[in-house]
Amino acid sequence: MSRIVIALGGNALGNTPAEQMERLSEAAPSLVGLIKQGHEIIVSHGNGPQVGMIKLAFDSASAAGDKVASMALPECTAMSQGYIGAHLQNAILREVRKEGMPWYAATVVTQVVVDEKDPAFQKPTKPIGAFYDEQTARARMKADPSAVYAEDAGRGWRQMVASPKPVDIVEKESILNLLDHEFIVIACGGGGVPVVKKGNGDYVTVPAVIDKDFASAKLAELVGADYLFILTAVDRVAIRYGTPQQEDLAELTVEEAKRYCDEGHFAPGSMLPKVQAAISFAQSGPGRRAVIASLEKAPLAMKGESGTMIHA
Ligand code: ADP
Ligand code: MG
Repeated sequence: MSRIVIALGGNALGNTPAEQMERLSEAAPSLVGLIKQGHEIIVSHGNGPQVGMIKLAFDSASAAGDKVASMALPECTAMSQGYIGAHLQNAILREVRKEGMPWYAATVVTQVVVDEKDPAFQKPTKPIGAFYDEQTARARMKADPSAVYAEDAGRGWRQMVASPKPVDIVEKESILNLLDHEFIVIACGGGGVPVVKKGNGDYVTVPAVIDKDFASAKLAELVGADYLFILTAVDRVAIRYGTPQQEDLAELTVEEAKRYCDEGHFAPGSMLPKVQAAISFAQSGPGRRAVIASLEKAPLAMKGESGTMIHA
């Protein structure tokens, strides 16, 4: 039996709650398929499109009147963990029941610790929420000097937040306890609610977005997983991606993966963080393996018949 952390891509979850429920119902047999093979699974997921939608809804509603308070990003992330987690629980439990298996499912609203001194805070790069004209953006920066707004690819001004690296998971003991009691755990959604630890031991939220692939690698490391599965929209990692010379890879050593990263084979913001997260997990302990595969082919990837395996 292996312990497997499975990271689901946020882009695979559709654009509406109904679409999301449908996609997750389709994904559940793959996830439960891994349990049927005798493994223990922990599920994490992205939330880019979903948290963007929640932030935008609060931005627009609070701008339109005084009945709705504006909502900071960490709270929006927590909300996204809640409803995506609810849909995952629903879909997984239905599948578990069908198979007559004695498993429970629970979502842990997860806070992920980042370093206050992470250089990413000096250079916020992730655009979030609503678009504004320059004048409004400058007024908002004046009202809240800690907020950064910048021009986003010719489309208007948006708030920019940092994307620091995860260093610890506040709820890791809760997650481990649930795993010990036959729970399928859903954790670290959207990379987690970002917090920094203060001198007195308190955790304080920070306006940032933690990459879900890096947070999932940290989760896999902290729960002592054997495998990290990063499930996305392609069957395998490729070199020379999107060219006539594209070559899909079944297996990669950490050394080869690092070389391909340096050679620029993986797009920043999509495949590059996945390969970097895979490298970081594969290097974190003996026998640890990362697999990047498509959602539908996860059980095949477990048998080595699909996906790209990255190992030391
Ligand atoms: P997710 O929502 O799962 O994080 P992303 O869209 O962020 O998905 O990243 C996965 C995408 O990365 C793939 O669907 C593919 O279009 C793209 N991609 C970029 N470079 C590569 C590559 N070298 N090999 C395979 N896919 C790549
Ligand atoms: Mg992504």
